[in-house]
Amino acid sequence: MKEISLQTHSRVEMIDITAAVQKAAGEEKIEEGVCLVYTPHTTAAVTINENADPDVPRDILAALDRAVPFSANYRHAEGNSAAHVKSSLVGASEMVIIENGRLVLGTWQSIFFCEFDGPRTRKFIINFLTA
Ligand code: ZN
Repeated sequence: MKEISLQTHSRVEMIDITAAVQKAAGEEKIEEGVCLVYTPHTTAAVTINENADPDVPRDILAALDRAVPFSANYRHAEGNSAAHVKSSLVGASEMVIIENGRLVLGTWQSIFFCEFDGPRTRKFIINFLTA
């Protein structure tokens, strides 16, 4: 298991963590298996989507903002219910296949850490199952 810290810089943000996950697979010398990327936060998430066009993550964040407005008569006193809802909608983890030491991702796919209540110091955890 490998734990990686990162600093987010905006209230909502998607950060490409693909290189860090690939590096961890290399350090653990994983040739065949699967990789779990998980975040232990209730107002963040992990997802896979396009990173070739930076407008895609921008559009995802904007669509989530429209679907889950920041203020909407929520009960949670901390005032960050929108971030909690987005975290559950997007999900805390992704699983990626590793073959010949490489993450099996589509041409346009990247793994993103999603911040929904930043800026904060965050972490994500990577674990491997080998075949
Ligand atoms: Zn809260």
